[in-house]
Amino acid sequence: MKVLVTGGAGFIGSHLVDGLIDDGHTVLVLDDLSSGSVENLPPGCSLEVADIRDRDAVAMAVSGKDVVFHLAAFTSVPESFERPEICRDINVNATCNLLEEASAAGVFKVVFASSSAVYSDQPELPKAESEPLGPSSPYGESKLEGERLLHSFLGEAGLKYTALRFFNVYGTRQRADSSYASVVPLFIQSALARRPLTIYADGLQTRDFIYVRDVVRANMMSMQRDWSGVLNVGTGIPISIGNLASKVLQLTGSASELR
Ligand code: NAD
Repeated sequence: MKVLVTGGAGFIGSHLVDGLIDDGHTVLVLDDLSSGSVENLPPGCSLEVADIRDRDAVAMAVSGKDVVFHLAAFTSVPESFERPEICRDINVNATCNLLEEASAAGVFKVVFASSSAVYSDQPELPKAESEPLGPSSPYGESKLEGERLLHSFLGEAGLKYTALRFFNVYGTRQRADSSYASVVPLFIQSALARRPLTIYADGLQTRDFIYVRDVVRANMMSMQRDWSGVLNVGTGIPISIGNLASKVLQLTGSASELR
């Protein structure tokens, strides 16, 4: 199949590109390399360096594609409070343009990287797709709006969609060098450097962590299904941040302090 992966040079996107190339698909990546990197990409895929907000570039990229995986996004929850308009422009307005161009180009399916951030802030895990929605950040709001856009385009020139609500994804190529880095790479980096692992509050707060290759599998299973809707992508197994820190210390053999 001919496939477009927006955000394909990033952490999750590049693992997806690996899987698609291994399965013999023809892959174009559209990425502005703002947090992604060319080094993440395997040989055999093409790269268009462009901003997802550039409508002409998007129109060219979707042309002739069977499937679009849409992962390019403003990804930081804390930063979305500081720059809500940019978050909205990238995650909502550019998604709308992409869907218009995809339906005009006769794309069969769009697989969208949504997020568990669309749920309300109830601490209970696991969550079902039927649970109340209620994002508590501009980022979560923008992902929910992305899902609604997909639904409103359903049937436009036969377009189908799957919105995958990723929980906390971890794995290789996840960056620890941003001020909003995820907890798994941050803990590993601190443990290896023998620096303290900082836990906020009592460490009993839980999250659902899922390995990036399992997320890739969910994406690839969605691409050919003649079905539209929303699915959670997590393990359903909560782990506390305190337990996560202890596990990282054990696996790295680190004597770092838990602070
Ligand atoms: P990432 O930052 O590694 O990947 C995002 C990619 O998109 C990068 O390669 C970046 O350069 C590119 N990009 C960003 N803005 C762009 C723009 N305006 N135009 C073109 N390219 C742009 O992040 P990730 O963790 O791989 O996230 C991928 C997707 O999964 C995102 O949509 C994110 O919201 C979603 N998601 C991630 C997690 C997680 O735990 N990592 C959880 C839920 C949802």
